[in-house]
Amino acid sequence: MNRTYVLNCPVDLCDCETALDSVYSALNDNKNFHIVTINPEMIMNAQKNKNFFEILNKSDLNIPDGVGVRIALKMQKINQNQIRGVDFSRCLMDLAAKKSLRVGFLGAKEEVIKKAKENFLKKLPDLNFCYVRNGYFDSIEEIIEEIKLSSPQILLVGLGSPKQEEIIVKLKEILKGCVFVGVGGSFDVFSGCTKESPLIFQKLGLEWLYRTVLEPKRLKRIFPVLPLFVIKCIINTIIKGQKIEKNS
Ligand code: UDP
Repeated sequence: MNRTYVLNCPVDLCDCETALDSVYSALNDNKNFHIVTINPEMIMNAQKNKNFFEILNKSDLNIPDGVGVRIALKMQKINQNQIRGVDFSRCLMDLAAKKSLRVGFLGAKEEVIKKAKENFLKKLPDLNFCYVRNGYFDSIEEIIEEIKLSSPQILLVGLGSPKQEEIIVKLKEILKGCVFVGVGGSFDVFSGCTKESPLIFQKLGLEWLYRTVLEPKRLKRIFPVLPLFVIKCIINTIIKGQKIEKNS
């Protein structure tokens, strides 16, 4: 799989099928596999958070999520389709049902995570849940112990970033043969608590606008991060005449 870099953070150029192929071979080899659905907010955070930068550089697959990443890749003359985290997670659940894999969900509020599980089971009654837990807890050690005992083969973690990636790194050290995905607010979408943006917004790359209109408090998160990200990418590629690549 081809890999490029956006502001020194790796981004894998793939589609849903090739990403699923990598998942499949990791499961066959009984290896851990950490997937990040990488977006501009994460890349900007990695510029100032060294630990998070390391995490993004050590993960196994960084799927391009968010229209901002697509724009940054376009500046490198790379045409890459955005892979929405929610769509990818749904594909993973299809795979899990087909292959009878043990699935774990960690994150979101109690009523949200319960409803998300319920909705998946309506569509995929064969889905084999071994762990479902809300994302509000006091002891991370307790959660890690619980997950270790349930031994999932696919674990979706929706605690927001970088919290979800940090716990995945800890889990990676003690589990075997597990595919971990940080899914952000996806459980809110799966539960139906957050409305998914209409297809036209998705196609136009304006999902962020739809979400911001529904949740105006997101505005503080998006601005100035998103415009700064684009400006930084422009400076790196067009003005400095560099490719947005990792410094060797
Ligand atoms: N969350 C959680 N535990 C926490 C903080 C957040 O489970 O301590 C959940 C929250 O309920 C939401 C998700 O993490 O479901 C964060 O969603 P956000 O919109 O921040 O993620 P994004 O989709 O923007 O990456």
